[in-house]
Amino acid sequence: MKAYIAQGSERWDVHANVTRNHRCKKMEDPIEFGVWGRAAPSALEEAKRVLARERPGLSRMEVLKSVAKSTTAATPILIAEGVGWGKAQDLRMRLDTVFDGLQILQDGYEPEDEGRMRFCNVHRLFFGGVLGCPVCDGRAAS
Ligand SMILES: [Zn+2]
Repeated sequence: MKAYIAQGSERWDVHANVTRNHRCKKMEDPIEFGVWGRAAPSALEEAKRVLARERPGLSRMEVLKSVAKSTTAATPILIAEGVGWGKAQDLRMRLDTVFDGLQILQDGYEPEDEGRMRFCNVHRLFFGGVLGCPVCDGRAAS
């Protein structure tokens, strides 16, 4: 959806139609997740390696800036996006010493959207929308 918005206002009508169709389709698409956290001061080099690996679209400079921001400003950064529930859990477990405050959010949400999300205590997962936890009810990508 971000990509459509970036294409500018002349595509807006097209975008509106796409969004409507998209939403219907989206209800059936498996839900993916993002993993967020702050680089642990003791593991900055490893945090940079992980970020470069999990988000290959970032430039080297963006990786360095993100990691720095997450420590100096204590702002959670997006470590991985568009991952299935299995990988999200795996990253949360494996990166426990590399990032502080690891959180799994439904894709498309950010930690600052906390007021618009709900939390599943079983899966320790933030999700949005009117339906329940996507893992509990089997709508999550595996
Ligand atoms: Zn759940």
